[in-house]
Amino acid sequence: MKNWNEILGNKRVRDVLARAVSTKRLHHAYLFTGPVGVGKHTTAHALAASLNCDQRHPEEFTPNCGQCRTCRLTAERQHPDLFFVEPPNRVITIDQIRQLQKACVSAPYEANYRVVLIDECHAMKEEAANALLKTLEEPPDQMILVLITDQPHRLLDTIISRCQRVRFGALDRQEIARVLPEFIDEPVDAAVLEVAAGYGEGSLGRSVDILQSGMLAERADLVRKISQVEANAPRAWLELAEELSDETQDFEYRIDVLTVFFRDMMLTKRAEPTRVVNSDLQELVEEMAQKFSVQAILTTLDALMSARYRLAGHVNKQLLAEDLVDRLRDPDSRALDRPS
Ligand SMILES: [Zn+2]
Repeated sequence: MKNWNEILGNKRVRDVLARAVSTKRLHHAYLFTGPVGVGKHTTAHALAASLNCDQRHPEEFTPNCGQCRTCRLTAERQHPDLFFVEPPNRVITIDQIRQLQKACVSAPYEANYRVVLIDECHAMKEEAANALLKTLEEPPDQMILVLITDQPHRLLDTIISRCQRVRFGALDRQEIARVLPEFIDEPVDAAVLEVAAGYGEGSLGRSVDILQSGMLAERADLVRKISQVEANAPRAWLELAEELSDETQDFEYRIDVLTVFFRDMMLTKRAEPTRVVNSDLQELVEEMAQKFSVQAILTTLDALMSARYRLAGHVNKQLLAEDLVDRLRDPDSRALDRPS
């Protein structure tokens, strides 16, 4: 587990929490919100360890030492006063909340605080959320609840209003590139690390995922393929659709890769090359930007984003891929800019 001070980014958030501990103005319930992969879980774990660390200072906030029994058990998720609620199948049930309430009736076994982490708390069904409200209204002493979500809009207002909201923001691209090697097994070019950091859009988790997916190596081929299929070759487009969607996971990454690439083409058209993510493929980005009109790029981006959105739901990926290529092949949208 990371030491409190080693956590990447969001320093202001950690300062606020540390001050709450040192001034003994802890809230009973915190709601950690922010994009996936920006350190919400890492911070929650480090906070739990810091609150109970054997080396803690009674009056001040002390970062988790990482060495003591409490810190080690917390890192291993084995500490008896650490309680996890996680959705097994995208849903947190009322039974899980009841188990939590049962476990929290007594005082902590050995630590200062019993810390409860509710992950993906938006996955609580309404009855589960209502059950949790009772705990939020009359929280047991010495209990700290940390609710974690990247989708706070799915929570009941009554839940949100009873928690202290802690907002996590995107991480710095350079910082992500710097720490990425810690998360991958094989050495990667610095240029590719930069690109992966750019794809993550401020999320370390996303950057790691895209790097591990191997999709970055496929980028150039993928973009070339799309630009080369003739508009009036239905079979070729169908094959492209099949290829795009062969694995659901990869399909998502392919859409992401294409989205960022077309966004880069737009930035190039707008003469903002410093913001281009695919900096190692600058020539290809420029070449493609020449081939597509601004309108064609916008249409393509729109098609990609709506495909990504629909993919998050339960759709037939083959149909979705066919629909996507249908929109990409529209000859009008691919027309070149007319010389002015
Ligand atoms: Zn410790």
